[in-house]
Amino acid sequence: MKKSSKNNIEVKDRKKILVLGGGFAGIEVLRRLENKFENDFTVDLVMVSNNNFFLFTPMLPEVASGMIETRHIVTPVRAFCKRARFYEATVRSIDFQKRQATISNVIGNRDDLANWHDHTLDYDYLVLALGGETNFFGMEDVKKYSYTMKSLGDAIVLRNHVIDMLEQASIEQDGVLGKSLMTFVVVGGGFAGVETVGELNALVRDAVKDFYNDIDIKDIRVVLVNASDKILPEVSDDLSKFTAQKLKESGIEIILENPVSSATVSAVKLKDGTVIETNTLVWAGGVTPEKIVKELQCEHDKGGRIIVDGYLGVKGFDGIYALGDCASITDQSTGRPYPPTAQNAVEQAKVVASNLISAIRGGAKVSFNYKSRGIMAQIGKKSGVGILFGMKTHGLLAWMIWRTYYLSHLPTLEKKLRVVTDWSLDLFFKPDITRLKTFTENQEIQTKVFSDAVSSAPARETKSETT
Ligand SMILES: Cc1cc2nc3c(=O)[nH]c(=O)nc-3n(C[C@H](O)[C@H](O)[C@H](O)COP(=O)(O)OP(=O)(O)OC[C@H]3O[C@@H](n4cnc5c(N)ncnc54)[C@H](O)[C@@H]3O)c2cc1C
Repeated sequence: MKKSSKNNIEVKDRKKILVLGGGFAGIEVLRRLENKFENDFTVDLVMVSNNNFFLFTPMLPEVASGMIETRHIVTPVRAFCKRARFYEATVRSIDFQKRQATISNVIGNRDDLANWHDHTLDYDYLVLALGGETNFFGMEDVKKYSYTMKSLGDAIVLRNHVIDMLEQASIEQDGVLGKSLMTFVVVGGGFAGVETVGELNALVRDAVKDFYNDIDIKDIRVVLVNASDKILPEVSDDLSKFTAQKLKESGIEIILENPVSSATVSAVKLKDGTVIETNTLVWAGGVTPEKIVKELQCEHDKGGRIIVDGYLGVKGFDGIYALGDCASITDQSTGRPYPPTAQNAVEQAKVVASNLISAIRGGAKVSFNYKSRGIMAQIGKKSGVGILFGMKTHGLLAWMIWRTYYLSHLPTLEKKLRVVTDWSLDLFFKPDITRLKTFTENQEIQTKVFSDAVSSAPARETKSETT
């Protein structure tokens, strides 16, 4: 049901700004435009995202381990919308020539395309902040048999699965199967992979120590597999080595320069022929833009990211901007693209918002010339690594800085308090090993397979409706 608002008042020459994607980049653009145009109803602001919440990904591995409660790292997008309109919908197509985007909401079963309702949104200015999806490098078997760490659903499913493995291993009499159940393989030496393996290792070891007397702690095997010769390539060599050393000290095995070549439900095969028997493969091997971004009629890099100019505008299209993980932006000081990080996405958003404001209100455009102040990762309980203002830091201090930094960047006071409470309680209590069966095992798999299907759902004939 629609209610009338100042947004619906007919204003001649109203400028329509459409922001696609409610992640780090999109939300920061929206926040800045909201502040600037709070009482200016000649500007129409619309945000579309396929989740109705903003997900704070740096803390996602801690949700998987149960350190932080699920809802504490998400904030409803509507909490940022003082006057913008928000639609929870999937962006299905974007037309740069007609300056229109087609979005779909689903009522009922998502498998049935008849339930997908399409709407066309017009825009004068477009912000593309659609992030990316997990990159399986075309390995369909790996996609089918692995758990991912990209969305809130991923963290919930992985946590339930890991606890299930503990429960099964505690009953299992077959020694070989028992060892396979207690083997956990994480693939990907970037931030997502390293932080995930650290959290998963802590969860499994603490849980076995505190609750599972039938499992021999020596049977736990946690492996980090990486295709290249070092983990955390964004940090210096010595910090990377420190990270590897700390992970090993906490019991994690590290395999470098040996990419995964195939997977089954109970094994992972590496390029050199090594086979690891496991029922848990977690894939954090990188991100790639969604198909809809890759197919846009504009310049892309070889990974499919949109190439933008120095002002973050899509080359050849006035008033259209791309940023964050879906964009390829060259760092003029290194000649290489900026890495896909939350920090970069937020800094790019500041530039995009400023250029949009200049386009509407008048003023000079600004270019993106960001020098990172630092980079940090949490690598398990009470240990971190990082480079801050050119200074290397590691261990407890880095871990404390990581926590302080990311806590300060959580969007609302409520979420900050909730996360601090979770962290504090963790100091005093055993891990929570409750496995919430929100769906049956079979449905879990269906949900995973289905979510893949949704992101690649074919565009159907448009039942057009101009909003
Ligand atoms: C586990 C993990 C840990 C990480 N840790 C760190 C860290 O410690 N530090 C750091 O700097 N970075 C970290 N990152 C990387 C960081 O999360 C990304 O670089 C950042 O989220 C990019 O921001 P974005 O806005 O471009 O994309 P996203 O934050 O991914 O946002 C994209 C948005 O678009 C929406 N969307 C996508 N497709 C569609 C569609 N078709 N229709 C509608 N909406 C759509 C999504 O729902 C999402 O809201 C981590 C990532 C992961 C997965």
